[in-house]
Amino acid sequence: MTATPDDPLRRLIERDQDHECEGFGAARVCVRVVAVAELPTRFGRFRLVGFWNNRDAKEHVALVHGEVVGAAEVPVRLHSECLTGDVMGSLRCDCRDQLTAGLEAIQRQPRGILLYLRQEGRGIGLINKIRAYALQERGLDTVEANLALGFRDDERDYAVAAHMLHSLEVRSVRLITNNPEKIRQLTQHRIEVAGRIPHVIPPNEFNRFYLETKARRSGHLIDLDRAPRLAEQSDPVVLEEPPAPRGAEEP
Ligand SMILES: [Zn+2]
Ligand SMILES: [Zn+2]
Repeated sequence: MTATPDDPLRRLIERDQDHECEGFGAARVCVRVVAVAELPTRFGRFRLVGFWNNRDAKEHVALVHGEVVGAAEVPVRLHSECLTGDVMGSLRCDCRDQLTAGLEAIQRQPRGILLYLRQEGRGIGLINKIRAYALQERGLDTVEANLALGFRDDERDYAVAAHMLHSLEVRSVRLITNNPEKIRQLTQHRIEVAGRIPHVIPPNEFNRFYLETKARRSGHLIDLDRAPRLAEQSDPVVLEEPPAPRGAEEP
């Protein structure tokens, strides 16, 4: 699809040129659609929408599949940035599996949006996340580690996500999540959540986090170095059980 002057996403750039509102959430964050480009990925074709942010210079983006402007019941996944997981393939958390599963789920639908939110390390930032990991290595659990660093357990705020969805003129969403807190926060910011799509990850060779955890079956998400594996997206994922091979059923 090539961009034309009446391309609905590009029209948003024009519309937002002078956009300024009272802002969303405690931080009164306001965003503007400022850039749109094609983004072919290994998961399929998306368009990448860049948002300017009036508060903290964070460059949030939306990966958009299909026609979403003005659409209702659009499948939406909220993903919080995790440099160590998304990019480096860290096994301390399950972020990369969740990101992959989210993009694949959206591609299976006629349309959908993944909001990639720049709130690294549950909102405490990358350096503080590394510090929290170091504290965990000394025996603190993830909540204790965050508290020791002076942060609440989860600093994330989905107000900016709500503004982004309003900016994209989405009429209602079907949220890909297992986390009622996300639904609550979006609803609070006047996003109509018309339904929920369970965030289910089919087992495959890439689900290292889940498969290794499953293989150990210790009842604890503990790796060989005894560092806890974290569900940093705060969105416990359901791992689809593979069908039992014939003749292998347990008695
Ligand atoms: Zn605004
Ligand atoms: Zn992570």
